[in-house]
Amino acid sequence: MSFEPREGGPRRVGQVKEITSLSNPIIKDIKALSLKKHRDETKTFMAEGLKLVLDALELGWTIRTLIYSKAAKGKPAVEQAAARTVASGGLVLEVSEKVMGAITRRDNPQMVSGIFDQRYQPLASIHPKKGETWLALDRVRDPGNLGTIIRTADAAGASGVILVGDTTDPFSLETVRATMGSVFAVPLARASHDEFLNWKKGTDAALIATHLAGAVDYRTIDYKPKPVVLLMGNEQSGIPETLARAADKLARIPQQGRADSLNLAVATAVMLFEARRHLLTLDTRG
Ligand code: SAM
Repeated sequence: MSFEPREGGPRRVGQVKEITSLSNPIIKDIKALSLKKHRDETKTFMAEGLKLVLDALELGWTIRTLIYSKAAKGKPAVEQAAARTVASGGLVLEVSEKVMGAITRRDNPQMVSGIFDQRYQPLASIHPKKGETWLALDRVRDPGNLGTIIRTADAAGASGVILVGDTTDPFSLETVRATMGSVFAVPLARASHDEFLNWKKGTDAALIATHLAGAVDYRTIDYKPKPVVLLMGNEQSGIPETLARAADKLARIPQQGRADSLNLAVATAVMLFEARRHLLTLDTRG
């Protein structure tokens, strides 16, 4: 099979490479994307599923490699994705199911996966405006939590997520899976603690930090007058003193029962939907 690039694309015809061997060097490279070191070096990551790949292309993400299993060959949507991959200079691979399973580390793998360029928004380019809610996550460690939070931020209409300090990789397979595609929709930025504190000084956003010892009930805060940056703490240790001191408010979600605290992703969902309650209606879904 070959794909003609769309009009305006590079003037070359891309050939599909068929691969059935697990020891093929291209497959070895793709498998190495399960390692953060290799993702960092190549600044790429993998996302699984035809819908995700098509959504990512629609949103303008750069695809490096499209991989599909033999069973997907000839499906119009797969051919469309392949043509777009070729048009942007990427590689198209048709692989056996065994190879697809090895790449995605699944027994029943999706029929399509894509390798995309990673993308971070520079912190300095973020200027929160009224009606915007940004989420800042201090040293989030659990990939499932981070993916769930990115998905929740997307659903709540947050403007983006700032990863503060040493966090788990948003582009790991586990996190990307948990985002259910929202990794392509939610801008991500990263910052050290100092960079985040300096950035905060330069914005007129209200920094609302969540804290188990917070004096303010999160439901009593007025989230309307200013843009909001919601700061959530590390799963084990919460937020450090330096960040807590910089907060305009320390908010707490009242609890009953024996649990010490809420799971980070659950607490984030509660806070985000409260902070954006005045902005969300059943019609806000565009
Ligand atoms: N042992 C940690 C501590 O003392 O902060 C618990 C951290 S908790 C599992 C992770 C994060 O979820 C917290 O830093 C906070 O951002 C948020 N969180 C969980 N329960 C909360 C609550 N009841 N009120 C406010 N934030 C909460």
